[in-house]
Amino acid sequence: MHQVREFRYPDSLDQALDTLEKLSPLARVVGGGTSITRRDPDAEVFVDITRLGISYISPSREGLLVGATTTISDLRNDRRVIKFAGGLLARAGKAVGTVPLCNASTIGGRLISSRRHSPLSPALLVLDAVIQITRPGAEVECVSIDDFLANPRFRGLGRSEILTEILLPRAMEKAGTSYQDLARTRTEPAWCQVAVSLKVPRNKIKSARIAVSGVTARAAHFPDIEAMLLGETMSEDRAVQIGSLVASQIQPARDYRAPLAYRSKLTATLVKRALLEAWEQTQEPRKGVN
Ligand SMILES: Cc1cc2nc3c(=O)[nH]c(=O)nc-3n(C[C@H](O)[C@H](O)[C@H](O)COP(=O)(O)OP(=O)(O)OC[C@H]3O[C@@H](n4cnc5c(N)ncnc54)[C@H](O)[C@@H]3O)c2cc1C
Repeated sequence: MHQVREFRYPDSLDQALDTLEKLSPLARVVGGGTSITRRDPDAEVFVDITRLGISYISPSREGLLVGATTTISDLRNDRRVIKFAGGLLARAGKAVGTVPLCNASTIGGRLISSRRHSPLSPALLVLDAVIQITRPGAEVECVSIDDFLANPRFRGLGRSEILTEILLPRAMEKAGTSYQDLARTRTEPAWCQVAVSLKVPRNKIKSARIAVSGVTARAAHFPDIEAMLLGETMSEDRAVQIGSLVASQIQPARDYRAPLAYRSKLTATLVKRALLEAWEQTQEPRKGVN
């Protein structure tokens, strides 16, 4: 941080990408700026991307589009986000941290810098979100949130590429969902975060997603376990079984805040609760969950 010489404030995406390209490798993107000191000690020029017109939440034919510099506060208070899939992303946004932090930090910056403890990652995983990345020359790449979180190639974003948009696909709009976590205080990173989505037309599970973070090195979901739920209904016993299965598949990361055995048990409990809550939502006729 002590090497920073300059802040640039481009007012278009082209200008921002052009600046990054010309000043590479010394330039870095800044979103909310709440994590740059930690991550980019060598950067000399910061390129602020909050004036590019990519702070928006906008419905489209494909689903709900969220611009990358949308703040966590705007995200968690937006009525369309609150309505989408039982408000899962808004609920996860409420778990991000204090109001001043959420007023500054952006969904894009959060996705790039908070791999282990972000409540948003499991929520976006179970919503099958699609991440848009823009490169110089207006080259656009869209990747699944799964690829985005798993592929180390995307960890270096902010040098010549900009995360520009997140799509919440329309197919997930009416899914039953749940977000569960446990933290010592509301402003401390949670010991474990769990998100679940279920699509249940005609009382049988047609699609299931279960994702965890906080407890593992990065947010992840469990395709094999999810597939076991297809065509089933949910019950307390089944939720307990699935919770234990998920816990058996994770390798909790070491952490001073809770012993490994406790984290594993906690994961099983939170998965069980999340499955039951998401299922309950799909049973409410007024919501028309499919
Ligand atoms: C008081 C405080 C408490 C915090 N508590 C927590 C916590 O509990 N858990 C936790 O995980 N983190 C925490 N953080 C870290 C930080 O708040 C988050 O990681 C934050 O959400 C980052 O978002 P930002 O928009 O501020 O990103 P920035 O700081 O602007 O950027 C972060 C990184 O992402 C890159 N970047 C940002 N936006 C884009 C984009 N659109 N495209 C490409 N690259 C981009 C930047 O180049 C930089 O490398 C805390 C920070 C503070 C100051």
